[in-house]
Amino acid sequence: MLVVVALGGNAIQPKESKGYPEEQWAAVRRVARALAEIVSEGFEIVVTHGNGPQVGYLLEAMENLPLKTPRQTLDLAVAMTQGWLGFLIAHSLEEELARLGVARRVAVIPTRVLVSLDDPEFSNPSKPVGGYYGREDAEVLHKTLGWVFREDPRGGYRRVVPSPKPLKILETPILKSLLEEKIIPIAAGGGGIPVASVDGTLKPVEAVIDKDLASSLLAVELEADMLTILTDVPGVAINYNTPKRLWLRRVKTWELKKYYERGEFPPGSMGPKVLASIEFVEKTGRKASIGLLEEAFKVIRGESGTLIEA
Ligand code: ADP
Ligand code: MG
Repeated sequence: MLVVVALGGNAIQPKESKGYPEEQWAAVRRVARALAEIVSEGFEIVVTHGNGPQVGYLLEAMENLPLKTPRQTLDLAVAMTQGWLGFLIAHSLEEELARLGVARRVAVIPTRVLVSLDDPEFSNPSKPVGGYYGREDAEVLHKTLGWVFREDPRGGYRRVVPSPKPLKILETPILKSLLEEKIIPIAAGGGGIPVASVDGTLKPVEAVIDKDLASSLLAVELEADMLTILTDVPGVAINYNTPKRLWLRRVKTWELKKYYERGEFPPGSMGPKVLASIEFVEKTGRKASIGLLEEAFKVIRGESGTLIEA
């Protein structure tokens, strides 16, 4: 049984942590324990992960470099986070597997994802990245670097970048070979590095792909038996921010769509997880689950979290 396991950004940098290396290792250790348990029970896994806090950190670091130092592009920043987080997860996972007496290796694969420049996001970018700016600084950055800014509801201005729909994972054949060799791949980190066809050649683009949607596409391409999205809440709820909150245990895609259309799941958080799950289930007829990272194994078995079925 092959499961694509998507880890939320909080798996590596919990909301309460500042982002020191020791904190990252401690958080990833918990993740690795959960993943090692799944593998030791006989499941094959492919691990994907978010990168919000880390890509934000890199962008902020670049903003604070001396002016003569070149700035790197967003596609390179995503690639950096794939190596960074991939290393943390792979190293910890191999250690935890060894502790359980499971001799398996883990490979980190920098992953490119095809997007289309015709995607409406390129003319109307929606995804905020990096820090908050005052109006004047935002204007300067817009003039000098061409960055697009949006006023943020929390005050100030933030850079927004396109978040196009993922169309194809370029490294899928490599991931299949690794799985045949019993190597555990870590792939599509941060939703993958976006590339688009320009005059017949593939070029990197400055955009950010949602990691839940990329994970869903990867699960379809790998013909996985399940998509499991691990995060910091015990599943999908309706009436989430009200006293009438109800956690969904098992839900059919048609029901979930109805809740989605009612606006139960915000675009920046639970929305993409729900969409990603619906897409996987509808395309494959298989199941998806969403739940707490700490209960990963139970979530995969449908004993905890929300199970989404056709
Ligand atoms: P991740 O880093 O794992 O992708 P996100 O912050 O993007 O995590 O999404 C998880 C968050 O979604 C939860 O912390 C929760 O506060 C929020 N959320 C919003 N609406 C809902 C809902 N209807 N049910 C469950 N969680 C929700
Ligand atoms: Mg998220």
